[in-house]
Amino acid sequence: MSEETKGKELKEKLFNKKENGWLSVDSEKENMIMKFSDEYIYFLNKGKTERECVTFAKKMLDENGFKDISQCDMLNAGDKVYYINRDKSIYMAIIGKEKLENGLNVIGAHVDSPRLDLKPNPLYEDGEFAYFKTHYYGGIKKYQWTTIPLALHGVIVKTNGEKISVNIGEYEEDPIFTITDLLPHLAQEQMERKLKEGVKGEDLNLLIGSIPFNDKDVNEKVKLNIMSILNKKYGIVEADFLSSELEIVPAFKARSLGFDSSMVAGYGQDDRVCSYTAIRALLDTNMPEKTAVCILSDKEEIGSVGNTGMESLVFDYFISELLNKTGENRPDLIRKVFNNSRMLSSDVDAGFDPIYASVSDTKNAGYLGKGIALVKYTGARGKSGASDANAEFVAEIRKMLEANKIPYQLTELGKVDIGGGGTIAYILANKGVDVIDCGVPVLSMHAPYEVTSKFDVYCAYETYKAFWN
Ligand code: MN
Ligand code: MN
Repeated sequence: MSEETKGKELKEKLFNKKENGWLSVDSEKENMIMKFSDEYIYFLNKGKTERECVTFAKKMLDENGFKDISQCDMLNAGDKVYYINRDKSIYMAIIGKEKLENGLNVIGAHVDSPRLDLKPNPLYEDGEFAYFKTHYYGGIKKYQWTTIPLALHGVIVKTNGEKISVNIGEYEEDPIFTITDLLPHLAQEQMERKLKEGVKGEDLNLLIGSIPFNDKDVNEKVKLNIMSILNKKYGIVEADFLSSELEIVPAFKARSLGFDSSMVAGYGQDDRVCSYTAIRALLDTNMPEKTAVCILSDKEEIGSVGNTGMESLVFDYFISELLNKTGENRPDLIRKVFNNSRMLSSDVDAGFDPIYASVSDTKNAGYLGKGIALVKYTGARGKSGASDANAEFVAEIRKMLEANKIPYQLTELGKVDIGGGGTIAYILANKGVDVIDCGVPVLSMHAPYEVTSKFDVYCAYETYKAFWN
């Protein structure tokens, strides 16, 4: 045996290989990946707001033997329940064979995505156009939201309690909306500005109409015409916007990307990719040893705040209800439950983008097509604010992934001191849960059109299924 071959052999044995996952995919597996991705794309097109995602999840759960927990007096092993929190977040559980006090296996994703929200007083007229004023939600690059087709989704709640659902811009026969931008011929001053100020927050006004109401004796004729249309269509008056939640989202459809259809392009994949794969995995979980808990939370993009965000104690209330209805509860038991629990904080990871390679440490970046991305710690500048998974727990998860032959990569978000980010991981970690971030690498994260690899999407589903089973 030559020295070189010996070296090769040793290298094979000792080095951590990171191979392109597609190389290991046979045609049968490829069909499964493609079929799963088609179903995921359907979900992306149906769920463009947190409320729509919760509605979609509820339908899937109802069709698969889950019950609203309020309808269950008692819970036993194998029972499947959910709790919907104000139509914007949902917690699900399958009661395990073991007692809850031995700990839960939790997977938590979020269904809110960056977007533009309407201001409370949105409607105005200027230069014989009607507009909606907006306030952006989450971390966006504002210039990306101009000159693209936009749709309006959400609810208007009238003082009599009537809730009106709005969804315009998704169907061929619907009109769409857009935010205009300056023509390059006259953009000399704008083009000199810093990119983040190129389009300002107060410039993100949605163009919604231009026909004046035909009455020479009134002013704001275009606004009046739009209000008259809205009154006929929804029965609302201008003041009803005060109690509405209307979100402006990209109108274009999620699609397969590339000649080889290897990727998914679509809005809101942060974090609906982990949300969808988690629910699908939950539906494939039966009689787990430990109770399986799935979270689809709201408000992650703005800090997990409020009573629908993960910081809220409504989640603890759900776990208390599980303890009450399994007859297991006693004072302070919930603290023991959390302390014995494990969690995959399933949120997306920054995918390595060769066009912007300079922001990444290539040895620690997440790559599209190389499997599920584990992020041991997030945070920024000296791991500040990081939820750092314990090595013992990382080893447990590695063992599970390797036993199930699921490709994985341990990654970090960008080079040191370049930036950073966070997820809901720290919130559960604070309760005593062992948590690691575990999700799908994404290109163009937070843009109106994000990109994932279908290979990784399927790996996420397999990972979550393995974790619960
Ligand atoms: Mn996210
Ligand atoms: Mn995000």
